[in-house]
Amino acid sequence: MKERIHKDIVIIGAGMAGLTAALYCGRMNLDTLVLENGLVGGQIANAVGIENFPGFKSVTGQELISTLQSQAESFGVLVDEFDEIERVTLKTSPKIIETQEKIYETDAVIIATGMNRRKLPLPEEKKFAGRGVHYCELCDGHAYDGKIIAVMGGGNAAVDAANFLTKYTDKLYLIHRSELRADDVSQKRLRANKKIIVMLQTEIKALHGTKRLEEIEIFDKTSGETKNLAVDGIFVNIGVEPNTKLFADELTLTGSGRIPAGEDCRTEIAGVFAAGDVREKEIRQLTTAASDGTTAALLAEKFLSKLKAGD
Ligand SMILES: Cc1cc2nc3c(=O)[nH]c(=O)nc-3n(C[C@H](O)[C@H](O)[C@H](O)COP(=O)(O)OP(=O)(O)OC[C@H]3O[C@@H](n4cnc5c(N)ncnc54)[C@H](O)[C@@H]3O)c2cc1C
Repeated sequence: MKERIHKDIVIIGAGMAGLTAALYCGRMNLDTLVLENGLVGGQIANAVGIENFPGFKSVTGQELISTLQSQAESFGVLVDEFDEIERVTLKTSPKIIETQEKIYETDAVIIATGMNRRKLPLPEEKKFAGRGVHYCELCDGHAYDGKIIAVMGGGNAAVDAANFLTKYTDKLYLIHRSELRADDVSQKRLRANKKIIVMLQTEIKALHGTKRLEEIEIFDKTSGETKNLAVDGIFVNIGVEPNTKLFADELTLTGSGRIPAGEDCRTEIAGVFAAGDVREKEIRQLTTAASDGTTAALLAEKFLSKLKAGD
């Protein structure tokens, strides 16, 4: 029999959004549990040289996250990385979070499970990740000022990334294995941008370089030709996977698989909040994740207080 434990609030996911929510909940004396099934820190855990988090000129993901985690833990928050969630029941009162080892009962849940960016499917990806291979133009584009950039992908995100990155470069290749899927407006801007060379029906076959990325090997499906292209950095935009599988039977999801919730982070179920990249929104950054974590925690506390008062 699994042990049954009551918590004021359970936060699912220990990335920037979840840990910020945890810090606020801890400081409001809520009995708070954070459940994490991967790496504490989420997407940012292994990033180096974060230069757009206010208050830090440059900080590593490790530094930022371990400080935030210990800040939250100093207010009594428990972060459990070793007990995976098996199922959740959110519409009942109390809500139930069943892990491999325990059954948690709680009145409020913050979902902060983020997303995973689809990785470049090449064995060299690991060697060059952060050293020429990137997934976030807003985060890392600045490092390629005056350099040659490639963008991989053909959807809106890739085309918008290409347009955006020409802030920094005069030469950018947009490489896609078939035809573009981006909307007409973005494609029009792309075609009008003299800095961008569009290469369709083209596959990236290999990455080359000693310490950093120096060249990409491409295959032109139309001509059958293979050649090497000198680039300093490649931004991969081939899709994202929001981590929402666990909630698919409980919450309606958007077309992109995210949780629909407004700026107040409230979902369609009272007492259930969605914070960070898992929430359907336009801008996904550390600061917006922290902002969501703050909002979700403060409104969850209000929800719990009202519940306690019987309002
Ligand atoms: C390489 C890279 C570099 C970046 N650099 C920057 C930058 O410089 N500046 C910037 O502002 N933004 C940057 N970003 C974007 C930023 O990292 C994200 O916007 C932010 O981390 C989102 O935080 P989050 O907490 O919403 O989600 P995530 O970071 O995705 O965290 C979600 C957490 O939930 C966990 N989880 C998922 N499913 C479950 C489950 N079922 N049970 C328990 N836990 C679960 C995950 O393991 C993860 O730890 C970068 C992103 C990447 C990929």
